[in-house]
Amino acid sequence: MSAEQRYQPNDECPLFSERLEEHIVLFTRGELPNRGRFCGNCYTPMSPDTARCPHCGALTDGPLTPVDRIPDEVIQWLREQRHTESRIVNSFAYAAFVIVIVAGLGIVLGIPYLRAHLLPATIVYGSFLLFGGRALAGVLGGYYGDHIAYDRARNRLRQHWAEWIASRGQPAEV
Ligand SMILES: [Zn+2]
Repeated sequence: MSAEQRYQPNDECPLFSERLEEHIVLFTRGELPNRGRFCGNCYTPMSPDTARCPHCGALTDGPLTPVDRIPDEVIQWLREQRHTESRIVNSFAYAAFVIVIVAGLGIVLGIPYLRAHLLPATIVYGSFLLFGGRALAGVLGGYYGDHIAYDRARNRLRQHWAEWIASRGQPAEV
């Protein structure tokens, strides 16, 4: 990144960099300690000789010097974010499942031939559940669920971040 393209803290929250997310996941699993050298602004893990955060661009000799552990709050926000995301994605996938069951029944019961013939009706209903369920779960759970979940979780994170910056008493590093 050039100096002109540097991260703009007023536009976006710098959490979470991929490396920070990975570190928190490993820490949560007990595979890594919450120890190291982390950016004083966005808490991205940094090697001992790094003078500038590769994620947010904060300088290690700036107002926010590196810290040796990730704040508990930040770890909690990642958990909250993931929880929000999976809850929303799951409820969309579940809704897709219910819609397909009801729509499939509607089709089978709405066609007199199928209503009178159990075997063809079962085949049609089974195929509809299988293929329709998969497609709709993919669209609802995968696409819409994912997008809405991400936006919702991200909004919440931005609120946390704004409060955090305020309570930290120092502006986000630029
Ligand atoms: Zn940083």
